[in-house]
Amino acid sequence: MNNDGFDIKAGVDLIEEQISGACARCGRKREEIRLMAVSKFHPLESVEEAYKQGIRLFGENRVQEGISKFSKFRENFPAAKAEVHLIGSLQRNKAKSAVQFFDCIQSVDRDPLIEELGALTGERKTPLIILLEYHTGEESKAGFSGLDSLYRGAEKALSCPGLSPQGLMTLAPFTDDEKTLRASFRQLYRAAEELEKRFPQDGGKKRWTTLSMGMSGDFEIAIEEGSTLVRIGTAIFGARHL
Ligand SMILES: *Cc1c(COP(=O)(O)O)cnc(C)c1O
Repeated sequence: MNNDGFDIKAGVDLIEEQISGACARCGRKREEIRLMAVSKFHPLESVEEAYKQGIRLFGENRVQEGISKFSKFRENFPAAKAEVHLIGSLQRNKAKSAVQFFDCIQSVDRDPLIEELGALTGERKTPLIILLEYHTGEESKAGFSGLDSLYRGAEKALSCPGLSPQGLMTLAPFTDDEKTLRASFRQLYRAAEELEKRFPQDGGKKRWTTLSMGMSGDFEIAIEEGSTLVRIGTAIFGARHL
């Protein structure tokens, strides 16, 4: 339970059931999709409860909030193999702390940020995993807009030895209209296919394999359209209090 009496276990169970259902409908395997619990604005206790219910991937959208919550989490569960990804827009002045803390930055949305991240990671032994955020129709949100700017971003990221770009992230438009949602997810899927053609990896192994798309309201459609990582907040933790 969280403070509102929202049942996190029931939330996780239901989402699992719905993910399996969506997979069955479109002939995909459950293992193809990672479930992220988006814990922004929710307290450490909720994170710990979700961890106990089997969640091993978390998303935060603010650098400071993510670091303070998850450094306590790591203190309390030192052996936990849980990842934390940054999914919210990143300002340059917070890039240094973000790079030191997060397992992946999904919200890489502009060239100057790639340059900054590249400079901060130049000496790393293991490159920082990043996703490029692509604008697929949401009115006000960030992201590379159009394939040409995405290609330039990809090229820049690939030129940084400390960065390992592994896929794309998008936010679909805020709508219930299934057609619009599908169109947005399809756009992300096709953009990844294009990147794979244009920027293949040596040895023929695919590089642009992570498609982070789908939230509480639209993740089943996202799975049908090829999502490999769904980001679920409300349906696991209940409503956020801003
Ligand atoms: C908040 C947030 C989510 C989760 O949204 P819900 O609708 O609560 O599931 C997913 N992705 C991003 C980038 C977010 O900021």
